[in-house]
Amino acid sequence: AESTNDPESVVKKYMDNLDSPPDEDCIICMEKLASPSGYSDAVESKTIQPYAVGKLKQCAHSFHILCMLAMYNNGNKDGSLQCPACKTIYGEKTGTQPKGKMDIYSIPRSLPGHPDCETIQIVYTIPPGIQGPEHPNPGRPYTARGFPRHCYLPNNSKGKLVLNLLRVAWNRRLIFTVGVSSTTGEGDTVVWNEIHHKTEMCSNISGHGYPDPRYLDNVLAELAAQGVTEDCLSK
Ligand code: NAD
Ligand code: ZN
Ligand code: ZN
Repeated sequence: AESTNDPESVVKKYMDNLDSPPDEDCIICMEKLASPSGYSDAVESKTIQPYAVGKLKQCAHSFHILCMLAMYNNGNKDGSLQCPACKTIYGEKTGTQPKGKMDIYSIPRSLPGHPDCETIQIVYTIPPGIQGPEHPNPGRPYTARGFPRHCYLPNNSKGKLVLNLLRVAWNRRLIFTVGVSSTTGEGDTVVWNEIHHKTEMCSNISGHGYPDPRYLDNVLAELAAQGVTEDCLSK
């Protein structure tokens, strides 16, 4: 039986069919929306025609439905879709973070810029391993440098909120990924994934420390860009 989580169902769930496509290009295949999908030859579908155009339900951006299917199939197929035009997330985005653990400690000292509270320490431990099908080179090993990695947050209400959202992001495998380190150039290694952490407690020489008055708001925005917001905490 056809599952409701098969790629075609996921794409159809978040798109409405458009009977008369707008006079625009599809930004996935760069063809006109009134022409067939540029992925017609590459993607097999019994239920989606090359001419079919859909509009994403929330952000209203339009694409060939087959192009959206090609994009979905190219990702980690977790049941979520992300609009390639405006990055709106449909469903729950998950990542490819390898196995490891996230531990939380309290440090009875304040951080520069946050003199009125103590400090939360997050310790991420990820050992090296073998890449899965969701990684760039399945079956090949990956390295894990600089673990355990120690990160710091002020232990005030905004810092606690960030911590709780980071826990959600960890459980969704969004904190790290396997790829090329932009710092060292090494490939097939565990790297940070678009959610910045403060790994230095007492100075900000590296840019990854305190003080940084914008940090908490910046990381809240980075979490939101991955679909992790306060709404996730009430569920
Ligand atoms: P990367 O170099 O591919 O960069 C990915 C993102 O992480 C970028 O946004 C970058 O700005 C940010 N980033 C880079 N260095 C960081 C740092 N020291 N602290 C916090 N964020 C940082 O990512 P990567 O390869 O995962 O990390 C960069 C380097 O930092 C690596 O060489 C890693 O070994 C080292 N590191 C070491 C420790 C340690 O405790 N020894 C802790 C964290 C990172
Ligand atoms: Zn297209
Ligand atoms: Zn959009």
